[in-house]
Amino acid sequence: MSAPRPTLATRTQVAWIRESDCIGCFRCVKACPEGAILGASRHTHTVLQDLCTGCESCLPPCPTDCIVLVPANALAAA
Ligand code: SF4
Ligand code: SF4
Repeated sequence: MSAPRPTLATRTQVAWIRESDCIGCFRCVKACPEGAILGASRHTHTVLQDLCTGCESCLPPCPTDCIVLVPANALAAA
């Protein structure tokens, strides 16, 4: 818990939501300190990759475990 929170410059991973499993509960939106998750209640949510630092704060609150972390450079190369 003592590790500093990653920043956009130091991030190695970013969050990605498996939208087919997202129930739109809004918990991840409230948990994200960067405002990087976009979504309306009861609708599937999306991570704004340009804002996500990969801090993992959104993972524990998700009831369906549909948020996964992917390497940041994998997205940059896509
Ligand atoms: S990993 Fe952190 S910054 Fe990225 S969407 Fe989740 S809570 Fe927000
Ligand atoms: S916490 Fe999980 S199920 Fe709830 S809105 Fe976020 S991604 Fe979807």
